[in-house]
Amino acid sequence: MTTIDRYCVVGNPIAHSKSPEIHAQFAAQTGQQIIYDKQLVEIGGFDAAARSFFDDGGKGMNITVPFKEDAFRFANTLTERAQLAGAVNTLALQANGTILGDNTDGEGLVWDIVTRLQWSLKGKRVCVLGAGGAVKGVLYMLLKQSPKEVVIANRTVEKAAAICEQFSEFGNLRAVSLEEVDADLHVDVLINATSASLSAELPAISPSVFSANMCNYDMVYANGLTPFLVWAKENNSEKQSDGLGMLIGQAAASFELWRQKRPDSQAVMSVFRAA
Ligand code: NDP
Repeated sequence: MTTIDRYCVVGNPIAHSKSPEIHAQFAAQTGQQIIYDKQLVEIGGFDAAARSFFDDGGKGMNITVPFKEDAFRFANTLTERAQLAGAVNTLALQANGTILGDNTDGEGLVWDIVTRLQWSLKGKRVCVLGAGGAVKGVLYMLLKQSPKEVVIANRTVEKAAAICEQFSEFGNLRAVSLEEVDADLHVDVLINATSASLSAELPAISPSVFSANMCNYDMVYANGLTPFLVWAKENNSEKQSDGLGMLIGQAAASFELWRQKRPDSQAVMSVFRAA
């Protein structure tokens, strides 16, 4: 009897996760049979849950808030990008029985911005708002696109400065306060990686930063425009996207790591947008 490979996503909360639907579509597209569930894990319970999942024959796990750092510690080996991020969103059982930890968030973001939206980052000034786990997770992959400069602006500017120092060998980085984000920065691509949109707040930057030709990206996704993207539009900055494509892109990279098959993220994106 052949057993079907099992995967899951863990987090707390987890009910909202779209990952099972996304992976079901990838599996159908690539002719794979897999089981992919979502699992609520108690705070402090990550190690026990992950150990039990892999002991029971699980092949791979996605990890979301707040367990990415626990997963980083749980993995036996790490990819370079996971090592730099200090966080893991994908665990994969290896042939020798060890567990590999990867972070596919940056690959998802770059796929969405560069491949799907066709916003080139090469030679551009990119401004990232926020300095939390998501920024550490994507920065290495962003810098590999050879932007002219990445300016990291955060409410707590010390956190932005620490990230700039950590990643300085990979490109030109500068830390500023949110108040310093204005027209004088001449931003080409503005990425909102704060969690402000989740509480319908706006980061305290000057609306003068927005311009007609720049691109605006909000890592949060929503039905309709996020508050940040509405604000950009009100300031005549209409090239924009929310983070749904990043979510699908990071899932595709996890799927490829597990199944050695690259799914068609664009097709799944169209299905989810229509829904
Ligand atoms: P963290 O909690 O690690 O960091 C949150 C960041 O937001 C901090 O820099 C914090 O500033 C800042 N912030 C929070 N509220 C405000 C506010 N009102 N004004 C200005 N800054 C604020 O979160 P993550 O980095 O993990 O996630 C950030 C966002 O990215 C979340 O909304 C998350 O949903 C989204 N995300 C989307 C993904 C996708 O696939 N689309 C993947 C990963 C994340 P300070 O340091 O000063 O507290």
